[in-house]
Amino acid sequence: MKIDLHTHSNKSDGTMSPTELVQHAIINGLDLIGLTDHDTIGGWSEASGAIRGDFKLALGAEISCLTDEHKSVHILGLLFDSQYLPLQEAMAASRDDRVPRMQRMIELMAADGIAITFQEVMTVLPDGATLGRPHLADALVAKGLVRNREHAFAELLNNDSKYYVSHVSPKPIEAIQLIKAAGGVSVIAHPGSSFSELNIELFAEYKRNGLTAIEVAHRDHSQAERELLSNFASELDLVQTGSSDFHGSGKLNLIGENLTAPDQWERLESMAQTRQVRSANNR
Ligand code: AMP
Ligand code: ZN
Ligand code: FE
Ligand code: FE
Repeated sequence: MKIDLHTHSNKSDGTMSPTELVQHAIINGLDLIGLTDHDTIGGWSEASGAIRGDFKLALGAEISCLTDEHKSVHILGLLFDSQYLPLQEAMAASRDDRVPRMQRMIELMAADGIAITFQEVMTVLPDGATLGRPHLADALVAKGLVRNREHAFAELLNNDSKYYVSHVSPKPIEAIQLIKAAGGVSVIAHPGSSFSELNIELFAEYKRNGLTAIEVAHRDHSQAERELLSNFASELDLVQTGSSDFHGSGKLNLIGENLTAPDQWERLESMAQTRQVRSANNR
């Protein structure tokens, strides 16, 4: 069983449509993927329709959160009930605020002579996609101002850049509670890229508030970080996941490059209330 629990389609900042993403996963021998677009479930129905054979889909979303210290933390929600409104409202508030946030970033760049317009960003934004910095990067690439997304982030768009602006986001614990209330399971995504120091107390606090799992195997984590996070998971009795965080051609990450062990997936799935894993017989 090849299980990759964290991928993006062009309903956020991936470059493949939900159909292409599912086809790509099947062609590459995956048995199950998680569809986790940023702050949206906009790809769920199209992706479900693309399932073939024994392939399975864990529907979810990656919730963009901010800590009290204004650190960006991503929480994956999987197998939650899409009818639970408070979670949908939190994602909608985040998506709505991404528009003025983008305008603000563009203003800051304009003041430094980097000439990009909101209209140019809208031109590269796929239909119905959650607007994000990668789309600003794509507009800069289209204008020949930078070579690729990677370069745009390194030079202009990273979290420490003077052009970075945050957007309305729940706190990590709020997202964890919302996902739980919606019957789903939560995974703290790539904690190694959010925190300069990994402290077990933080994961213990998240667990007390309903956290289900830690994403251990991820491109952004060194071997030492994986070992540390794996120990935290064992100590706190949290599930351990692995994923590619695939973004199509938007990032170097290859689908299936990191996987979730079948026993960990079984445990994760058993903790979801609704257990709405999609298959050819259950779209
Ligand atoms: P945003 O949600 O608008 O704050 O943008 C964050 C997104 O930018 C994340 O989902 C990342 O996948 C993407 N991102 C961050 N760094 C890079 C990079 N160096 N190259 C491509 N995409 C990136
Ligand atoms: Zn992304
Ligand atoms: Fe993320
Ligand atoms: Fe992601």
